[in-house]
Amino acid sequence: MKILVCISSVPDTTTKITFADGNTKFNTAGVQFVINPYDEFGLSRAMQLKETLGGNVTTVTVGRADTEPVIRKALAIGADDAVRIDADPMDSLQVATEIANYAKDKGFDLIITGRESIDYNGGAVPGMLAELLGINSVSPCVKIDIDGTTATMQTLIDGGKEVVKSALPLVAAAQKGMVEESELRIPNMRGIMAARTKPLAVIPGSAAGNAKFKTFDLPAPKAACKMVSADNVEELVHLLHTEAKVI
Ligand SMILES: Cc1cc2nc3c(=O)[nH]c(=O)nc-3n(C[C@H](O)[C@H](O)[C@H](O)COP(=O)(O)OP(=O)(O)OC[C@H]3O[C@@H](n4cnc5c(N)ncnc54)[C@H](O)[C@@H]3O)c2cc1C
Repeated sequence: MKILVCISSVPDTTTKITFADGNTKFNTAGVQFVINPYDEFGLSRAMQLKETLGGNVTTVTVGRADTEPVIRKALAIGADDAVRIDADPMDSLQVATEIANYAKDKGFDLIITGRESIDYNGGAVPGMLAELLGINSVSPCVKIDIDGTTATMQTLIDGGKEVVKSALPLVAAAQKGMVEESELRIPNMRGIMAARTKPLAVIPGSAAGNAKFKTFDLPAPKAACKMVSADNVEELVHLLHTEAKVI
């Protein structure tokens, strides 16, 4: 079973977001980067599948050398080898094209991504990647089991879950449920030491990004909370009408 796990390097969820160069760039100074949390669910499931079915887990990241600490963490969690496609990821189609160009002749049985990156939140790479490779995709995928050349998955629909089956290869976009939080793999000392010598291939990027942007803005700060006494419905209605303007 050859599994490819797409790993995006994203700012830690507690990061205080600021911009640099006249609000034209995300300010990375002092920011801690981590494996995109949805990718961690996918990587942990990939490790479980490898342990039961055998095979190999490769990770792929589109990014510059500054993503390598995150890639090494994925290797410390248990991936066998990693590929970094050396390019500035500027939009979803570029990222999907880079990964498809790499994966198309490698014979992966299963490609796992996260359901979305938690920085730019496009949620677009998995579907684009599958389309470029001419294979099926399921997003979000909250459960996946493999039997021979068939995957049985659960995805979320309004009010419930749907069970879908697909022949391999396919792209599965992970979120919580593919494994539970308690099953997330954490690098141990042995894994961290082993990760230092695991293969990390760097290949040149070949696709151009098309995104054009002018400036970034932070959302308006939240207004202070106004407390209204529970027995003062008249005041509540008045405020909802005149200040919040929702009724
Ligand atoms: C205007 C703009 C400027 C940007 N500038 C930068 C920049 O300077 N530096 C930078 O690093 N990013 C930058 N990005 C982010 C970059 O474009 C994203 O990595 C890319 O758009 C994919 O993000 P997404 O939100 O569409 O991914 P989604 O579709 O939400 O991601 C789903 C899954 O796809 C996979 N995936 C996503 N991105 C990658 C990746 N890079 N490598 C491997 N797998 C991946 C992961 O498994 C992820 O969970 C920029 C984005 C925009 C819009």
